[in-house]
Amino acid sequence: APAQRGAPPAKLDVKGVKHIVAVSSAKGGVGKSTTAVNLALALKANGLKVGILDADIYGPSIPRLLNIKEKPTTVEGTRILQPIMAYGIAAMSIGLLVEEDAPMIWRGPMVVSALTQMLRDVAWNMEGDLDVLVVDMPPGTGDIQLTMAQQVPLSGSVIVSTPQDLALLDARKGIAMFKKVSIPILGIVENMSYFLCPSCGEKHDIFGHGGARETAEKIGIPFLGEIPLYMDIRERSDSGCPIVATEPDDPHSAIYLQLAKDVA
Ligand code: ADP
Repeated sequence: APAQRGAPPAKLDVKGVKHIVAVSSAKGGVGKSTTAVNLALALKANGLKVGILDADIYGPSIPRLLNIKEKPTTVEGTRILQPIMAYGIAAMSIGLLVEEDAPMIWRGPMVVSALTQMLRDVAWNMEGDLDVLVVDMPPGTGDIQLTMAQQVPLSGSVIVSTPQDLALLDARKGIAMFKKVSIPILGIVENMSYFLCPSCGEKHDIFGHGGARETAEKIGIPFLGEIPLYMDIRERSDSGCPIVATEPDDPHSAIYLQLAKDVA
């Protein structure tokens, strides 16, 4: 029967996944993917079974951040893809399936169907049901966000923002959208929050400070904490050795581990 006009579309059945948590940001370059990866690894370090889905179809970065080189294969006799295990978490990204530049020219419906496939046609429970699937969202509010909001049974969303006003302004737009479609917002993380100078030991608020906390309080959503601008986070992230997996005792890893506790 044709869907009733105005009825919300049915939610996708994502098998073998208990909770889906989206990591979003209003604009690119704020450290959303880095936060998503380290959060996923921190959830795993806290004893959960974790997966990460790269929903940033136009700019997938999970293969690089987790140093994944191999291509996924299908479960024999089916079209179900097997996620790639990296640092103990199950990962899937459009970047593993197509040539790097291909999705740049895709139209909306293709992007949405790629996302749907990566949610539904992946053996996320290859090694037992996942407690959490972390979804690295594309920045902003486009087709993918809308699909995620309407068709995916999300448990909640974590919003990453830098302290700059502009980022916050956009974050508010993003928050308005999530509120409209009633996805619970788990909270805001302020990334690149401050810089602890390794030579003088002083804390520098390069992009200003406290903006994200203030906004969070103003709009009544939890503030999940501050992640400083830190060379090792960047270097490890960009070379595929995320800090939480490779330097678990670093105080910066402790920040992600605490974030994972607050989110779980
Ligand atoms: P986005 O997903 O928002 O586009 P990325 O996670 O790709 O952002 O981060 C953008 C750049 O900033 C990357 O080079 C990343 O390593 C770096 N970066 C992210 N967070 C931090 C941080 N807390 N300290 C230092 N560099 C960071």
